[in-house]
Amino acid sequence: MKNFKQSMDVYKEAVDLMPGGVNSPVRAFKSVGMNPIVMESGKGSKIIDVDGNEYIDYVLSWGPLILGHADERVVEKLKETIEKGTSFGASTKFENELAKLVINRVPSIEMVRMVNSGTEATMSAIRLARGYTGRDIILKFEGSYHGHGDSLLIKAGSGVATLGLPDSPGVPKSVASNTITVPYNDIESVRVAFEKYGENIAAVIAEPVCGNMGVIPPQQNFLQELRKVTEENGTLLIFDEVMTGFRVGYYSAQGHFDVVPDLTCLGKVIGGGLPVGAFGGKREIMEQIAPAGPIYQAGTLSGNPLAMSAGYETLSALNEASYEEINKKIDRLMEGYKEAAKEYDIPLHVNRAGSMFGVFFTNEPVINFETAKTSNLDYFSQYYRAMIEEGVFLPPSQFEGLFLSTAHTDEDIEKTIQAVRKAFAKIEK
Ligand code: PMP
Repeated sequence: MKNFKQSMDVYKEAVDLMPGGVNSPVRAFKSVGMNPIVMESGKGSKIIDVDGNEYIDYVLSWGPLILGHADERVVEKLKETIEKGTSFGASTKFENELAKLVINRVPSIEMVRMVNSGTEATMSAIRLARGYTGRDIILKFEGSYHGHGDSLLIKAGSGVATLGLPDSPGVPKSVASNTITVPYNDIESVRVAFEKYGENIAAVIAEPVCGNMGVIPPQQNFLQELRKVTEENGTLLIFDEVMTGFRVGYYSAQGHFDVVPDLTCLGKVIGGGLPVGAFGGKREIMEQIAPAGPIYQAGTLSGNPLAMSAGYETLSALNEASYEEINKKIDRLMEGYKEAAKEYDIPLHVNRAGSMFGVFFTNEPVINFETAKTSNLDYFSQYYRAMIEEGVFLPPSQFEGLFLSTAHTDEDIEKTIQAVRKAFAKIEK
């Protein structure tokens, strides 16, 4: 059995200092019956906790570290940048460099504004959509997570789904009443919502691949139909690519599926492990943002030179072949999961979209939040704890995605498959 004594000591101190002992609820490990594991260091595909336990990491800081931990190119660039100062609150050339790269690579983005997190990106994008259209209603999908802004914390996924708090206290009713939710992958429900509220819907915000109820790809033509319905109704289509951006493919999910939204939100990979978010889109819409236009959005640390350099270096290190290679490794890993499930008679459904994937303990195809919830959470929890024992670090919730990096080796994949086999063999039914 692994020893977690040091983790426990840090947690015991933290629990008096921070709510639940953590700075983000998803780090609590509550749903898998464990206490937080406290990390010490990471290199490539591996992380080491404060007790010296080593893990192959499929969390990758919840997505950002597509090159793995402490990639040398990123670390060198950060050292070079930090020598010149950490923040100026004035423009730097680093912002132009990252902006050009993002504009080149994300089909919908003609202009971009940098922020500090995915939450800021989505909050700002919906303010822009409301300001631009003069409408108030936002349509989102059940089980999608778009950060913790009031308007979007309605029937949300990720940590709120894990903790069973999908409608958080503290969100005013007047705000919640302007958010409509419908099931993902259900274009008929979208159409019904538009028949009723169409003239007042400012934006539809969608994760082009859901990553916050486990991983759920869009079904055939779902995104294309969303594009059509929004266009017909003068509603903006916002793709929340905080998780999928530069992860589902070189040109992000919108390039991969060939659907161009009006606005796009980015985060995670764009910061290469430092706090960055961004939103961007059509020039005509983006020029409504202050100081070019009247819609206000600002940030003391936005476009921070360290964050911009880490993002730039990370995105520059990737090419189309990098994604192919990661995808092949995930395919092998998913085959391993399926073979193990067959061998040990475990209900299993796996979904993949680019370099993110989800594992569900159910025989039903998982296409939306309802079907994601058919996963056997007891099996998940047993599997989770066994994988930790085997030295594999996974997101501690059924309702999260798994990520791979360019640093993961074939050996990592084979070791993980062996761990899955051992974990499945131990599941008590
Ligand atoms: N949108 C999506 C799709 C996300 O996955 C997340 C975070 N997991 C966010 C928004 C919020 O980003 P952040 O945690 O950086 O605020």
